[in-house]
Amino acid sequence: MATSRGPAASPFVVSVRDLARRPGSQLSISRSIPAPAVFGTDVIGVPEGSDLALELSLESVSEGIWVSGTVAARAVGECSRCLDEVSEDVLAPVQGLFAHPGAQSAGEGDDVDVRDFDGDSLDLEELLRDAVVTSLPFVPLCDPACPGLCDQCGARLADAPQHHHDAVDPRWADLKGLTEQKET
Ligand SMILES: [Zn+2]
Ligand SMILES: [Zn+2]
Repeated sequence: MATSRGPAASPFVVSVRDLARRPGSQLSISRSIPAPAVFGTDVIGVPEGSDLALELSLESVSEGIWVSGTVAARAVGECSRCLDEVSEDVLAPVQGLFAHPGAQSAGEGDDVDVRDFDGDSLDLEELLRDAVVTSLPFVPLCDPACPGLCDQCGARLADAPQHHHDAVDPRWADLKGLTEQKET
């Protein structure tokens, strides 16, 4: 939504005006905030309203503010094989630089996540969302050995290790072929 959102409205926005003026100083953030929307992919994510536990360090450096630490949360999704619910604890490393305008060319290397910084406050939402999403499994599984579903009837094979279907009687198969021909 593009409705007006004051800078203080989001719990992800941290005022760092004083910190930014004192290079070398550091600020620790240790708090839990509810996810503002699903943090995740189509198959697994941290549900909206569920806790994101932040343990962050904000460091004032000459280029801007260096943010590092972790975000912990519980992701919920669907097993890619049997479609059962999967929940997984995620502990995502967070690292990023909020750079003063013009400070990006500091030769930090391409692997550093650099964001714009207005000298006043940081909006950590995107940085944290990216950290969580990158830490989620591409193919969530209820169990690495999940046998999935029967390709004939959709039964969950983990519940029915003996599950099988008798081969179709050839006489019936012939009949089936006849009816199929009729239909076309
Ligand atoms: Zn499964
Ligand atoms: Zn079956």
